[in-house]
Amino acid sequence: MSTQTPESAEHKTLGFDVEALRAKYREERDKRVRSDGNAQYHSTAGEFAQYVEDPDVEPLKREPLADAVDVVIVGGGFGGLLAGARLRQAGLERIRIIDTAADFGGTWYWNRYPGARCDIEAYIYLPMLEEVGIMPTEKYAKRSEIFAHAQALARKFDLYRDACLQTSVTGMVWDEKTGQWIVSTNRGDRIRATYVVMSIGYLHRPKLPAIPGIETFAGRAFHASRWDYSYTGGAPGDWSLPKLANKRVGVVGTGATAIQCIPYLAEASEQLYVFQRTPSVIGVRANRPTDPDWVASLEPGWQQRRLDNFHALTSGAAVSEDLVSDGWTNITSKLAANLPKGVKAEDVDPERLAYEAELSDFAYMEYIRKRIAELVEDPATAEALKPYYRTFCKRPLFHDEYLQTFNRPNVTLVDTEGRGISRIEGKWAIVGDQKYELDCLVLASGFESEYDTPYMDRTGFDVIGRDGRSLSQWWADGARTLHGMHVHGFPNIFVVSRTQSGLQINAPFMLNEQAQHIAYIIRTLRERNCTIVEATKEAEDEWVKTIVELAVLDLDFLNECTPGLINNEGAPNRRNLQNSSYGGGSIKFLELWRNWREANELEGLRAYRPDSAAES
Ligand code: NDP
Repeated sequence: MSTQTPESAEHKTLGFDVEALRAKYREERDKRVRSDGNAQYHSTAGEFAQYVEDPDVEPLKREPLADAVDVVIVGGGFGGLLAGARLRQAGLERIRIIDTAADFGGTWYWNRYPGARCDIEAYIYLPMLEEVGIMPTEKYAKRSEIFAHAQALARKFDLYRDACLQTSVTGMVWDEKTGQWIVSTNRGDRIRATYVVMSIGYLHRPKLPAIPGIETFAGRAFHASRWDYSYTGGAPGDWSLPKLANKRVGVVGTGATAIQCIPYLAEASEQLYVFQRTPSVIGVRANRPTDPDWVASLEPGWQQRRLDNFHALTSGAAVSEDLVSDGWTNITSKLAANLPKGVKAEDVDPERLAYEAELSDFAYMEYIRKRIAELVEDPATAEALKPYYRTFCKRPLFHDEYLQTFNRPNVTLVDTEGRGISRIEGKWAIVGDQKYELDCLVLASGFESEYDTPYMDRTGFDVIGRDGRSLSQWWADGARTLHGMHVHGFPNIFVVSRTQSGLQINAPFMLNEQAQHIAYIIRTLRERNCTIVEATKEAEDEWVKTIVELAVLDLDFLNECTPGLINNEGAPNRRNLQNSSYGGGSIKFLELWRNWREANELEGLRAYRPDSAAES
């Protein structure tokens, strides 16, 4: 059945011109499409490696290890920590987390920039709060509190004991004879592991804008994720930045990182220039301290109920109660297609549904643009700060001080009309025919992702599986997995990522699901007296086909989006599709996993012992 809403009724109430907005979005997009695509960024892997050094750590000396463990987990962020916690609960004794950083925390270890907080509510963002016995002090926690929670998780599950911090994996080879992985590191370690969990993070390798002349900048330049407090003054827990009082500071970028540090830079520096290429979508954050009465009212199991409620709401499920009630749950309801009462989305013609969703999106973005006009005093600056694209072309943001920062006399928005800084000469940043003298340049220019950089470039090492085949070869045209987790020819590796897996805006929620799924598989192997598990070629092929078929549905949306992370800087390709998350939505993905576990057949996996052909 196809149900249509009457055109005339809707047009009367819209309050905006659909065709004019479509044209404006296209015009703004076209300004930003560039022929160099991802080549507009410098990788920090080679010539620019100094940009990823840790500014805040003592060198470590230790003897190389040559031992055997149950599991090596690559990455000590929430993904690695949750895998460690769930595997500990499953009874694994020797769990070794390896991380380049000097402590756990992943992104929250590195990102110490002033203003760093998570814009997902802390009561759901911080995993296993009830198990660890911690309650966040605010709805949107500061980085220091999130980092401390990562450390608390590591202590709670005894993950410091076997950890190798300040250590980078350099290679991994499958040993068929023993059914183990041999893991090498930059500290000369040679570690045998029955299982490997790859949890390298989604956005961990900073990328730098390849602005002509950037390498010659005569002031101090650093990436925001390697904040140099020795230059700015202050500390990770003290965002006063006193040494900037007589400095002219430039910021490249206006994404999630930039909008959080800009208010602090504005407060501290003599003059701040914000070099904007594309404005962000910024909604209300409304942070507040944790209410002790609310805490006292909580019943055991409260966090999982809250997590499930947020997951359902932000996945578009029809749920009446909103426990989190924030910008994210609000946005999901605002962006849903506005259908007449009682009409279900599945009963509506897809084209009509897409049109209704586009109208809801226009309406939400009109609200975002109106908010800017209300908060920013100078009309030209306000106009330049208005985003013109579909809400989810870029990650929507929430902040309560960023926009007002442009009312300060020492802050200048340099709107580069979508092109960025033209070139840098000595201390000068040049945009068109204007020159800006700078002492300091903060690069809040983002990170490499699954969409723009092959996985093995982001790990920094290759994995050699069965018969000497490398993962970089196997994934040369895009990832190949079963459920985003298992790879044919690479036994006992569990990949934890968004690629070909479930996607949730609250990342630790999905990381926790993945960790529990791995723990289930390892428990099942033990029950069946097996130690090896591997995806079959057929199951992997089938899953890749499913991922691409579902992702194709998004191709029109991606093509029309302003250039960015999710659409390969304006040119989505097959690798984008194949590296996508499961397009059926995270509710369906988790249901699929739940059914798969209930069947208890490890369908699509081959499980066996190394010394026998016995299979399960
Ligand atoms: P982003 O990729 O989101 O933003 C990078 C910014 O740099 C964009 O504004 C981009 O502009 C700009 N840029 C890049 N090159 C140039 C150039 N040559 N000239 C001018 N501007 C340029 O990176 P972030 O570090 O801000 O955020 C990365 C991710 O980290 C987020 O998407 C989010 O997932 C996560 N994050 C989450 C937070 C949270 O509260 N949960 C907080 C901080 C980060 P353009 O848009 O035109 O490409």
